[in-house]
Amino acid sequence: MSDYRFPYKDSEFLLNDVLDFDQMCLDAGLEDVNSELALAILEEAGRFGSEVLAPLNTIGDKLGATLEDDGVHETPGFAEAYRQYVDNGWAALSGDEEYGGQAMPRVVGAGTTEIWYSACAAFSLGPLLTTGAVEAIAKHGTDELKSAYLPKLVSGEWMGTMCLTESAAGSDLAAVACKAVPQDDHFLITGQKIYITWGDHQMTENVIHLMLARLPDAPAGVKGISLFLVPKYLLDENGRPGERNDVYCVGLEHKLGIHASPTCTLNFGDNGGAIGYLVGQPNLGLMAMFTMMNEARQGVGIQSLGVAERSYQQALPFAKERLQGTRKDGSRYPIIEFPDVRRMLMLMKSATEAMRGLIYFAAAEGDRERAAKSPEQAKKHAARTGIYTPVVKGWITELSQEITYLGMQINGGMGYIEETGSAQYYRDVRIMTIYEGTTGIQGLDLAGRKTLSDKGEAMGDLLDEIQQTAKDMSAIDSLSGMAASLSSAVQSGREAMAWLLEHAAQDRNAVGGASVNYMMLMGYLCGGWVMGVSALKAIKALESGSGDESFLKAKQVTAQFYFEHLLPRTASYFSTVMAGSESMMALNEDQF
Ligand SMILES: Cc1cc2nc3c(=O)[nH]c(=O)nc-3n(C[C@H](O)[C@H](O)[C@H](O)COP(=O)(O)OP(=O)(O)OC[C@H]3O[C@@H](n4cnc5c(N)ncnc54)[C@H](O)[C@@H]3O)c2cc1C
Repeated sequence: MSDYRFPYKDSEFLLNDVLDFDQMCLDAGLEDVNSELALAILEEAGRFGSEVLAPLNTIGDKLGATLEDDGVHETPGFAEAYRQYVDNGWAALSGDEEYGGQAMPRVVGAGTTEIWYSACAAFSLGPLLTTGAVEAIAKHGTDELKSAYLPKLVSGEWMGTMCLTESAAGSDLAAVACKAVPQDDHFLITGQKIYITWGDHQMTENVIHLMLARLPDAPAGVKGISLFLVPKYLLDENGRPGERNDVYCVGLEHKLGIHASPTCTLNFGDNGGAIGYLVGQPNLGLMAMFTMMNEARQGVGIQSLGVAERSYQQALPFAKERLQGTRKDGSRYPIIEFPDVRRMLMLMKSATEAMRGLIYFAAAEGDRERAAKSPEQAKKHAARTGIYTPVVKGWITELSQEITYLGMQINGGMGYIEETGSAQYYRDVRIMTIYEGTTGIQGLDLAGRKTLSDKGEAMGDLLDEIQQTAKDMSAIDSLSGMAASLSSAVQSGREAMAWLLEHAAQDRNAVGGASVNYMMLMGYLCGGWVMGVSALKAIKALESGSGDESFLKAKQVTAQFYFEHLLPRTASYFSTVMAGSESMMALNEDQF
């Protein structure tokens, strides 16, 4: 039996009390969907995650994937689990009905995705990239590409990849050098992509690569990149995988964590050219790829939450069982009785709940955008999603490092020993601040595209909404102290934003020097907002006598802990923003 349990009560509380999911579904015209159905789905996903996927986590870590003569072979057991995943309809859960999906709201998708990542992060990366590929093809592909590829990708029968990175083009995609030459109705692609997650395997009968390359006459830089769909097997006249395309895995990376997720070097066109099809407009490929990247960025935030939750679930029973204190009568007591161990457990618990809440908020915003009744409404929700994406990716992946670190710390020496599993979570989560855009890139996105470009309008709306929560909290005696802390953090957010707007034009290093600290400030502030709303809703539920009393009282305490121990970090991030970049940039390179 697995040691992983889906945190049902927290999700139930978020759906029913915090988001008012039933009303959300009615507003979106989804009469057939309600929280009862959503929770039944989540419960079933929890069972699948804990019984089928979670047992693969350690095996995947130990055995990893291997490169053989006929390509990459995934860890034994993964293909069977993937088959069940597809057969049970999990791959198609949030997919578009037009292509055979079940069109469940994004909130439900976020809930199930957390489960897959808690259970086995390396396994779940394949489906994550497939979902992103589906979004990009659905939004930018031709009707032919959509009908040929989407049904199979939505069902999970085929998997997708995202091929951006090259040896000279990491964060800076302007340097992409792979080439695409037009020929008949397709393009011949040549070049090499590195670090491609699930770039090859035997789990599905086809693998669909979405890759960036340059046309022969393309302008230099990001304005000369196009997006192509390159299948591992070309489709025959019946739409089935036929002839092998000229794209091969030539190497697998050895890495710190997520061993079961094959990280491939892919060569395109060594034997004359891989056949590819243009997705979207020539030279506008980066914009089309952003559809996929934004999907994946939120996905990586959820992934970090999943691993952090699993780390907490591993540390908790250890803390209850490990005896290290001795009472006067000589009896021994467990480490959970020590305040410092409580500090670590509470930090893990409250941070995890805040992260989950923000992820549900962000997913709900995506659902509201889809259900918007006017273009203005849709634009507003899209702008808010635009803010959430780098915060979910940047802040949550960073905070998850600390959570898995604490998970190991609670285990003491046993945490460092592989057999407890704690070390694997710490290793697995490490990549999450790096891929899908490093934390530095998320900070720049939030400060630049999501704040400076609209002169802080969308961010200002978010800060106003958080301030309104502080006002609501101040009307309740037991929350008035927390309300004051939240107001003060909102004020820090406003001043940090004003500083950015003022200095961006005058000092070329101002934004780059402040952006990660600005993003972390906003992350801890959003976490405080989520926990503030949660405290309010918990009080309301307790007053009305609905819900689980013990859970609701614990939620209030967890919120209080967040306000006392995590929200104060906004003040130090605020100071670092306001310090500017002078000392950062003052030394010449020889002085380092
Ligand atoms: C296990 C794994 C799986 C991956 N999966 C995929 C995949 O499926 N598909 C894919 O295309 N790629 C994938 N990648 C690649 C990953 O997305 C890149 O590693 C990542 O984008 C960073 O690029 P880089 O490694 O070249 O680092 P660099 O871009 O060289 O960055 C090095 C450092 O410089 C900083 N930096 C760079 N540019 C800036 C800037 N403009 N401003 C501020 N700081 C900056 C970065 O933040 C970082 O700290 C994967 C990588 C790994 C390790």
